Amino acid sequence: MNQDKNIVVIGCGAGGGTAAQFARKTDRKAKITVFEKGKYPQYSKCGLPYVVSGRIPEFKDLIEFSEEWFRKANIDLFMETTVEQIDVKKQVIIAKKGKEIIEKPYSSLIIATGAKPSIPPIENLCVNGVLVDGVNVIRTIEDGKKIHSFVKKGKNATIIGAGLIGLEMACNIHKKGMNVTVIEALPNILANTLDEDMSNQVHEKVSKNISIFTNHLAMKIGNKNGKIHSVSKKNNETGEEEDIETDLLVISTGCKPKISLAKSAGCNIGKTGYITVNERSETSVEHVYAVGDCTEYKDFITKKSLPIGLGSVVVRQAIAAGVNSAGGNYKLPDGILQTRTTALFDLEIAAVGPTVSRADNTSVVSGKFNGSSGSVSLIPSSGSTGCSSFCGSSSGDFFPSLSSSSTGSVFASDFFSSFLGVSFPFSSVSLASGCSTIAGFSSSISIVGGERTCVLYTSTLFTGYNFLQFL
Ligand SMILES: Cc1cc2nc3c(=O)[nH]c(=O)nc-3n(C[C@H](O)[C@H](O)[C@H](O)COP(=O)(O)OP(=O)(O)OC[C@H]3O[C@@H](n4cnc5c(N)ncnc54)[C@H](O)[C@@H]3O)c2cc1C
Repeated sequence: MNQDKNIVVIGCGAGGGTAAQFARKTDRKAKITVFEKGKYPQYSKCGLPYVVSGRIPEFKDLIEFSEEWFRKANIDLFMETTVEQIDVKKQVIIAKKGKEIIEKPYSSLIIATGAKPSIPPIENLCVNGVLVDGVNVIRTIEDGKKIHSFVKKGKNATIIGAGLIGLEMACNIHKKGMNVTVIEALPNILANTLDEDMSNQVHEKVSKNISIFTNHLAMKIGNKNGKIHSVSKKNNETGEEEDIETDLLVISTGCKPKISLAKSAGCNIGKTGYITVNERSETSVEHVYAVGDCTEYKDFITKKSLPIGLGSVVVRQAIAAGVNSAGGNYKLPDGILQTRTTALFDLEIAAVGPTVSRADNTSVVSGKFNGSSGSVSLIPSSGSTGCSSFCGSSSGDFFPSLSSSSTGSVFASDFFSSFLGVSFPFSSVSLASGCSTIAGFSSSISIVGGERTCVLYTSTLFTGYNFLQFL
């Protein structure tokens, strides 16, 4: 046993579990210990909405790596054990399992504590600090099971928040025969994923099955004997209020990072309120790494920090932390491209990188791309190196042709080799078969084709990877 390397990981979600695995791959002899306060080892949160609809049969099917798997990998996994303190001077953590206190020294520590749902200020949401019966958040298997127990054909469900997770929940609950209403405070659905024009098209299509109220705030819960029966919503423009009958409410309005341990250990917290880490997943404290939903990292395009919040990126960060904590040298690229894909009813949606409004003032190619798998045209919408056309073959292979630009000096091949530093496999971009590969060279390229809608943004790092994650 390599006594020098004593790697301790806090949290066994996608971040902590992956970091432990990669530490083991890097050093077969290091002592690796993972502490997880919950009941389940590493599982896919992304699949939670699909267990609710039955597409994935059981919640236990979401577990990616069992306790036995960790045992076989010679990783000590302490379940239902909460790390309560980090002493960075002594390089030791203190954890609690029931009444037992566990003290564990570390040579490297990986904080992967994740995040918790953020709950908006809605009147009567809780009784004695507990959510009213029928009101739920969606983050864990326990949350999923609770929601599942309220799903009943013919009854009414309301979702607060029209982001990716809110809409995935809406679709999957609708599939179980419930009438679904979505309330969104912002003017558009999927505001962090799509630009307004694309969002409007998705809104129109999805509205065939569910009711969506954008620009509305959920104000108050009506409950009887501690059980929800309605939610009142207010139109932000007119101030008009209306009650909606509801048997099940799901709140999906983002999350807050769990940073208290990192903060007390002296780790720098960034402007977004998340732990700052570098390209090696190191925090500002020596020997302490952090990964996942508790951290922020640079956006590849804007270079501004943004909360991670995506399993695909979490895994990359965790690989860096795992490898480096075990003595390797793994660096993330200088920024991440958030890649999002989903399927809402029969509509496939994908986006990579920031939306045009978020990419504002950034010198990147940007444009709208409308058409089917035949000939399409790209209309520059912003950015200093706009481009003018794309050509797609009928087989769905896309060949970009930058015939003009606002600067008149950028051509596709140059763009890829100089800006992205890679040559791009365009022949593999198959849109006819859905968003099977995410690719594009613009900060915002939207494609609408037949029944399929997808939005493509600059993507090189995670090409094809996220698709597997999401669908
Ligand atoms: C419904 C849903 C759908 C999603 N869909 C997608 C998707 O399609 N694609 C995608 O890329 N991402 C998706 N995500 C996001 C993705 O799941 C998360 O980014 C990822 O799971 C975060 O992993 P993590 O390890 O950072 O955090 P978590 O999974 O939250 O893990 C943190 C763990 O740390 C434990 N912990 C916290 N504090 C302590 C402590 N003090 N001691 C011990 N243990 C502690 C917690 O119990 C928890 O298990 C989805 C998320 C949700 C909720």
